[in-house]
Parts: sequence; C-alpha cells; structure tokens
Amino acid sequence: MPEKEKSYCLEERLLSSPELLHGIIQTATDAIVAIDAQHRIILFNRAAEQIFGYRVEEALGQDLGILLPEGVAERHRTYVEEFLRTGESPVLGRIMEGLARRKDGSLFPVQISRSATKFDDSWVFTAIVRDMSLQKEMERRLLESEKLAAVGMAVSRIVHEIKNPLIAIGGLVLSLYKKEDRPEHKRKLELILREVERLEKLLYDISDFAKPLSLELKDTDLVALCQESLEVYRPRLEEAGIKVRLKSDEKEIRAMVDGERLKEVLFNLFENALEAMADSGGELELEIKREGDRVLIYVRDTGPGIPEKLLPQLFTPFFTTKKKGTGLGLSISRKIVEAHGGNIRARNWERGAEFIIELPLRPPQTVSS
Ligand code: ADP
Repeated sequence: MPEKEKSYCLEERLLSSPELLHGIIQTATDAIVAIDAQHRIILFNRAAEQIFGYRVEEALGQDLGILLPEGVAERHRTYVEEFLRTGESPVLGRIMEGLARRKDGSLFPVQISRSATKFDDSWVFTAIVRDMSLQKEMERRLLESEKLAAVGMAVSRIVHEIKNPLIAIGGLVLSLYKKEDRPEHKRKLELILREVERLEKLLYDISDFAKPLSLELKDTDLVALCQESLEVYRPRLEEAGIKVRLKSDEKEIRAMVDGERLKEVLFNLFENALEAMADSGGELELEIKREGDRVLIYVRDTGPGIPEKLLPQLFTPFFTTKKKGTGLGLSISRKIVEAHGGNIRARNWERGAEFIIELPLRPPQTVSS
C-alpha cells in the first residue's frame, strides 16, 4: 500500500477514537471553536478558554458574536447564512488575519482558519484561532527600534546644530531684557524668551527620544515614588482647580526600577491630565496596586477622554492633537516603561482618560533598549 494511503488509514483509525480526538483538541495550543448553523458555540477547547477568558461552560450555547468585535459578528452571521444557502463562502479554507474580543472587552489580533463539515445532517463550522498579540507586539518593537536607530543619528546631529545657537539667542535676549526699560519692548523680549524655552524643551525631548535608553535600577518603594511625584505636581494641579487623590491599599511596594525615569513618565501623564482638565477643573487620581508579580499604576482624570479612533495612535512618536504639542511625551513614556520590561496602555473610563502602567516587580535581565 502506498505510504500516503497507509497514513490516511491510520488517521482514519485514530480519529475514530473519541478519546484521542478529545486529547488532540484539548492539548492544541491554538483555540478551537466550533459553531452550529444557528451561530451558537458548540465546541470551545482549553486554549480557547485561555485566549478568550471565558470558561467552557460560559461559552457553550452563546452566540459566536461574544468573541468578535462589534460589527464583525453580523458580517460573520451572513457568511454562515450564505454558505447554508449556496454551499460557498469567501472565508472558508483560507488563513485570515483579524481582530477578536476577549471576555473583558479588549480586542486582540488573531490568525484564523475556518472549515465547514457536515455532521449528523447539520453543518458545523470550525475555526482554529491563533493569538497573534505577542508576535505583533514583537514586530512593532523591532520596527520601532530599527526606525529609531536610523533616525537617531540624524536627529542628534540636527539637535546639536540647533541647540548651540538657540542657547546663544536665549542668553542674548535675556541680557537685553534685563537692560530694557520700555514696557512694550520688554513684553516682546519676554515673548521671544518663552518661545526659546519651548524650543529648548522640544530639543531636549527629541534628543531624549532618539537616544538609547539605559536605566539605573535601584530598590525603590513605588508607593513613595507615586506620593513624591504627585507632591511635585500638586501646586500646579490645585491652582487649575484640580483635586488630587492617591489610592493605595499597601504602604510599600518595592521593586527594582529607575525612579527618576519613572517619575518622568508620571510627570508626562500628569501634564497631559492637567492640559485635559485645564479649562474645567476636575480630579486626578493616582492608584497603585500589586497584582501577583506585577505592579499596576493607574493615572485617571476627569477630562474629556480620548476619542476611540485615536487610541491606537496615542503612543506613536510625534502624534499630537495639541496646537503646541510635541507628541513625544507618551512615546518617551512607553520607551521607559518597556525598558523596565513593562507596558503602558490608555483607555477611557466613565469620567475621562485612564493610563495604566504595568511593571514587573522583578526586572528582566536586559534593561536597556
Ligand atoms: P503632547 O502632549 O505633546 O500632544 P503626548 O505624547 O503626551 O504629546 O500625547 C499625545 C496625545 O495624546 C495628545 O496630543 C492628546 O491628544 C492625547 N492625550 C494624552 N493624554 C490625554 C488625556 N489625559 N486626555 C485626553 N487626551 C490625552
């Protein structure tokens, strides 16, 4: 008997064993989800539980829509209906990329391959779903570090060329300002000084962003670090009519971090919160809590929040919606947090914007990027 046929026979014999089939489905590292012709989930393996966050007994019998982003569920249902009518579907037998939805509502990238099988006179649609979050995240980091290495050198050169004349301009204008008595001239010189200061800050941010980051890790109490950072900002926030609150169930949470760099991240977030609430006043809440071997720091404001469609671009270098923004604060913050082996994300909560910093309590082996 030819080899191919022999293995086919073996496959047939093996698959006639329900225990073996069950074992294969349950030990697969990709999610395997099957639905019936009514779009209801009828199979949900262990990997699916881990990836989507539902327990099997929660998922079975539910509409497949619970695992799909809004809008996609409807489209998917029409594919199934179309297939039942015509026997054809544009999605069957192809490997496709898309987004799926976890129980907590968050969306994540997936690779999906689907098949349809007639079973006991009814159609069963099966999807094998691979969670691509980690791979996509690695690709993004690689792309970004390649991009940064390429622009880094050019940026440092330009920054260097602009910085010196700018410092000279600032110094000269300041000496003219001190000698000037005419109020009208003084006002104009003041304006120049303010713009020079703004450009200096921009140059500092750009060179900070382009430079490779090296951390000085020290054993640090993160609760105290949050407290100190908030104290620095408190006068400016309160002056703008913003109430300040620190929430922590624990007195002390120690981790190996670069405290100065983390303060920089918090200052960036406070500055953004201040700008978001500058006209209306409001409340800034800083919360820190331990969760297993991670620590979570939340910065919440009661400003207008972030339009949903801007959320994916927020941490992109130079992305800003402000007239005089640099669009570097959040990307520098992300660089610092990721160098600690952590991550930072943004979302809206009921009353405004929320930024979440997640850090490992023990740092990774390599800590520079
Ligand atoms: P910049 O502050 O210079 O614009 P950032 O990188 O700090 O640069 O922020 C990028 C953008 O993210 C901002 O322009 C703003 O649109 C948005 N953003 C950041 N923080 C908040 C917040 N607390 N509330 C609303 N939008 C925010």
